[in-house]
Amino acid sequence: MQFIDLISQKNRIRTSLLHRIEEIVDHGQYIMGPEVGELESRLASYTGSRFCVSCSSGTDALLMPLMAKGLGPGDAVITTPFTFIATAEVISLTGATPVFADISPDTFNIDPDRIADAACQARDKGLDPKALIPVDLFGLPADYDRIEAVADSLGLWILEDAAQSFGSSLRNRRAGRFGLAAATSFFPAKPLGCYGDGGAVFTDDEELDFLLRSVRVHGSGTDKYSNDRIGINGRLDSIQAAVLLEKLQIFDEELVSRQRVAEAYSSRLRGKLVVPEIPEGYVSAWAQYSLLASSTAERTTIMDTLQKAGIPSVIYYKIPLHLQKAFAGLGYGEGDFPVTEEMSGRIFSLPMHPYLSIEEIDTICSVIGSCI
Ligand SMILES: *Cc1c(COP(=O)(O)O)cnc(C)c1O
Repeated sequence: MQFIDLISQKNRIRTSLLHRIEEIVDHGQYIMGPEVGELESRLASYTGSRFCVSCSSGTDALLMPLMAKGLGPGDAVITTPFTFIATAEVISLTGATPVFADISPDTFNIDPDRIADAACQARDKGLDPKALIPVDLFGLPADYDRIEAVADSLGLWILEDAAQSFGSSLRNRRAGRFGLAAATSFFPAKPLGCYGDGGAVFTDDEELDFLLRSVRVHGSGTDKYSNDRIGINGRLDSIQAAVLLEKLQIFDEELVSRQRVAEAYSSRLRGKLVVPEIPEGYVSAWAQYSLLASSTAERTTIMDTLQKAGIPSVIYYKIPLHLQKAFAGLGYGEGDFPVTEEMSGRIFSLPMHPYLSIEEIDTICSVIGSCI
């Protein structure tokens, strides 16, 4: 069994995709070709954003807005410690300092009530809190109604980390529409993935769109070899754009299938384990189906039993960011973010993709049922 099955999906789009790739091989515009512009306008209309700037990865999609806004030493950016390393790594890359705020145990997303405290801590360290990066973990949007109110009152601008949540929504707003800018990833394992690395930034701000396009290509000015600011090589390849254009055709159908898989898991596992509950008004993109065992020992038993039955499971995230060696310099220690630490000791994720059959779900759930 696969944790994420990309082959069944490939079989659905294979013919049309190979045709598109052949066109690119022939037209020769391998980087930032016409497919890239087509993709950007399709993605912008999908999310409802005015602008979409595609780029070379989700990490660069997070980094580029921070660079465009001129973040640097002395600035603090508040984020969650319960996420993939890239969310906070990009803050350090600009020279700014990540300041963490603990999560809500029911959604695994940043707790809006802890943000003001994090801003105070930043000021106590002599830093100037400038921005906030909420993460839509496992595909579920963060609590933007409350986050936006808190950010406004603290004078922070928001960068949504939508790397896992493309396709999700909160009432009538899709992921990619929250904050001043939003970043998503097209890494193959994400809900919308390409066949390599890719990402995109969304914004409604015309000036930021202009700056992002410059940062994406070495801070380019009006002329190709004039450079107005420090940037990166952050372009998207035409072939990756073509893969995404083909996958977008079946993406909404796949979201429905993911929802069906999640419901099938939850109806079988609710009451035995803590299953993910989606709050009213939210739609998850189900990047992961993550649940909680009652203890670390029970999680180990379940994961070992699954493995013996040939079923993969993964822990996202075993080491919270404040306890990662790379961030030792920030001065955090064990006990600083109790909710995050508790969750990282109990959480694990089951296979999740649109092509998981009810028979496979039955097998997975009965293996789990046999050992708890
Ligand atoms: C995957 C991911 C990223 C980084 O995306 P890449 O395309 O791998 O660079 C950033 N944040 C989160 C939450 C992610 O899951």
